[in-house]
This record gives sequence, C-alpha cells and structure tokens, in this order.
Amino acid sequence: MASRSTPSAQITADSPQAIVWDVKINAEIALLGVLLDLGRRKGPTGWTGHGHFGPYQRGKGNIMADVKTVVLDASAIADAAGTVSRPGSIAVAGGRIAAAGEPGRVRREVGDKTAIHDLAGRLILPALVNAHAHLDLTLIGPKPYPGGFLPWVEQHIVPGRPRTDAQVAAAVQQGAAMSHAAGVGVIGDIAVWPNDLAAAEALRRSPLRGISFVEMLGRDDTLKPRLTHMKQLAMAHDECGRVRVGLQPHAVFSTAPAVYQISAELARYTGIAVTTHLAETRDELQFVARGTGPICEYYKRRNNWNESWLADYGRGQSPVHWMKHYLQQARWLVAHCNYVDDNDIELLAKTDASVAYCPVASEYFGHCRHRYREMIKAGINVCLGTDSILCQPGDQPQPMGIVPQMRYLYQRDRTDPQMLLKMATINGCHALRIDVPCATLQPGAPADLVSVPFDPADPTDALTQVLQNRYSVEPVIKVEAHT
Ligand SMILES: [Zn+2]
Repeated sequence: MASRSTPSAQITADSPQAIVWDVKINAEIALLGVLLDLGRRKGPTGWTGHGHFGPYQRGKGNIMADVKTVVLDASAIADAAGTVSRPGSIAVAGGRIAAAGEPGRVRREVGDKTAIHDLAGRLILPALVNAHAHLDLTLIGPKPYPGGFLPWVEQHIVPGRPRTDAQVAAAVQQGAAMSHAAGVGVIGDIAVWPNDLAAAEALRRSPLRGISFVEMLGRDDTLKPRLTHMKQLAMAHDECGRVRVGLQPHAVFSTAPAVYQISAELARYTGIAVTTHLAETRDELQFVARGTGPICEYYKRRNNWNESWLADYGRGQSPVHWMKHYLQQARWLVAHCNYVDDNDIELLAKTDASVAYCPVASEYFGHCRHRYREMIKAGINVCLGTDSILCQPGDQPQPMGIVPQMRYLYQRDRTDPQMLLKMATINGCHALRIDVPCATLQPGAPADLVSVPFDPADPTDALTQVLQNRYSVEPVIKVEAHT
C-alpha cells in the first residue's frame, strides 16, 4: 500500500501546489542532493558551487526523508521527446526521474513503497530552458522603449547597469530566483566582463543549471587582458559543471574580429560554448554592410570611434555572412537573428548554428516577421530566450519565464504547441550543449519539473490549454535558499 505524504507540510499559501524545500544548503547537502542532485563541484577558477548556504532543515516539506521514491500524480504530463499522458504520473528517486507515463504503468514499474503527491488539475512539464538572458540587468526592471535601440542603450543600460561585483551578484541572484520560480531550469546567461566571475558565482548558488557566458565588448587597449582572461577561462572550464562558463563576443559591430577568432578557436579546442548577438537590428545591418549609420554616430558621440575600424566592415555583407569564417569553425549559439535573408538561413543551417529567438523582446524593439519557422524547416535548431527583463511587459507576472514566450508565439502565430515545447526544452539544451535528457521526462533525467493548471474536464489538449490560459508556472520542487 502506498503511503500518502502529508500535504500540509509541503504546501504554502503563495505556492499552493509546489513542494517547498525550505533549505539551507551546506552540511547536509548530500541529503538535499538525494532529490535535487545539487552536488558540489569545484569550478574552473576555484568556485565551490553551493558551499556557503546554511544547513538543511529537516521537517520542512521534506517528502524524501523516509522514502526512496515519490510518485507525482498529475492530470497530464508532457515532454517534447514523446512522453505524453493524460492523466500521467512521474516517479522520482535519487533526484532523477525513475519512470513517467500512464499512472498504472508507473505504479507497476516502481512498486508501492512510494509516497504520492497529488497534482490534480495540473500539467507537469520538464523545467524550461531560457537560452538567452541578461540576469545582471534584473534589478533595472521592465522599461518603456524610447523608439530606437541605441537611445534605449543610452537611456537604460548605460546608467542602470550594475558595475560592482556585489551589485552584479545581487542582480543575478534575484534574476535566477525569479527564473526558477517561473519554471526555468536551465539558462544561458550573459555575464559582462569585468564582473563576469561574480555573475557566474551567483548563478552557481542558484537552483539553475546552464552556462554563464562571459561577454567581451570593445576593441580598445584593454582587449589584450580580456583575451587572456577568455583563454584562462576556456582552458579551465568544467565541461561537467552544473553551471559552466562560456564565451560571448558581444556583437559583430561592437567587438574586434580577434575576439571572434579566439572564441571560435577556443571552442574548437576546448569545447567551451560560444554565443553572440547577431543580426539583431537594421542599424547593425547598415553598419556591417556599409560602415555607416546610427552605430557610427553612437560611437562618435561617445568619443569612442576610430576610422581604422572601418577596415573590418563596409563590404556589403550581412552580419551572418560577416561571421561565416567563425561560424565554420565552431558550433555557435546566435541570439536574435531578427534580420536574415535566405542565404543567411542557408549558412546558419550548414554550420550547425543554433538560434536563440526572444519573441517578446523582438516585439518590444519593433522587429517583426521573425523567420523562426523557416529556420526550423531549414534544419536550424531554434530555441527560446527572454533577453533582459527590460524588454518584458511591466504587467507580466513571470517576466523571466519561458512559458510567456511560448504563449506569445502561440497566440500570435498559432505555432504548433509541441514545436513550442521542443523549442523551450530540447532545443535549448542542444544549443547550450547540455545533455538533452535534462529537459525531458525520460528515466534518468534530473527531476527538474514544473506544473501549470489546466482544466481536465476540457477535452482540449492540456499543453494547448496552458498556452491559451494565463496561469502561472511553478516548479514542482521549489528551492528556497537562504544565505
Ligand atoms: Zn542579449
């Protein structure tokens, strides 16, 4: 006979269906790791992962203390790898999925020495992947768009960006917590030099997996130490870490070609992940093709312009083709690609690049008719991102969530729900070079699960209902860490 865990110990008023793990992680990290697999790992520069959280507190919603397996009974479960069941159950043991599917089959597979957690009226999904985020900008919050990308940078980013390690760490910590609460399990976050290590460390302390991409901007005298820093990170990066480092030349118009060359070579020889912003604005197209326009004016206005830079641009190329040599050397994750032609799509497909499409941010900046469906048809791995919180609507209750991005595309384009789920899970993992099972319900995958309400009495597909409704997404296992 299965034992039913006591829901009152696990449920809080603000999070009625989440199993809340009110944890202070450290001395008994192994016990928490039973469920969450938050093993401590030593990072490339001596980071020690989660080591400085306090001790784990027994009796605060711990449904794993006395049993080895928990079965989550939901009204539906779904992933993008073919596991779909309504109703559905997921058995979790040792922090990983033991079985998932039709409830009777799951019971037969795991036996009856289990605790049951009831998630009736909910769809369980794997935690979602945000492939392009700027968590260091979280504390700025949503901002109105002034009508131009560069005025936006000057009005909001230049004065608002955190500039000390402590400020960056606080912002990333807050952004990661908001992401986790909104159902994100894996993230590709941009960490700006020289506060990049503080950002990566803050991400390591969070419940998220993913990559902290060290961003390099500029072509000036400080480039040399930055390139040395990139090389050191790449040589020391931990391919198995829960949060790894990656490299990001900021964009083709803002970074020296040498940064792209070195990033591509390091990716090729060390396996470090690489990303960049690409073909994001019309201004970028003009600058790269003709060496003129608002980007030149922006640099001149800020007394940061050197005519010699034009030697690298002005040959009529698109940004994607400007990157051709580097795209051919490594597997890049390119963010945005709002402005691409057929030749660009062909090149991205040939070079196995992934595209991080940030639909709400694209809309905010006025970029329309993104060609993501044509990219997918051409074989490009397209995933989803939020970009920064500044671009999210001020009334969005989960601005760091990926489900709002899926809902936006479903409602605007009627995109196939299963395709959206694939973009939001498997494709994101592929783009970030994280084991794809991470974002599925396959046995052995980490039990990073989220749930969303839907109406079981409505015969409409559960995922479609979720894309039509406005309910918040919640992690099934909610980590509340205290420093
Ligand atoms: Zn970005």
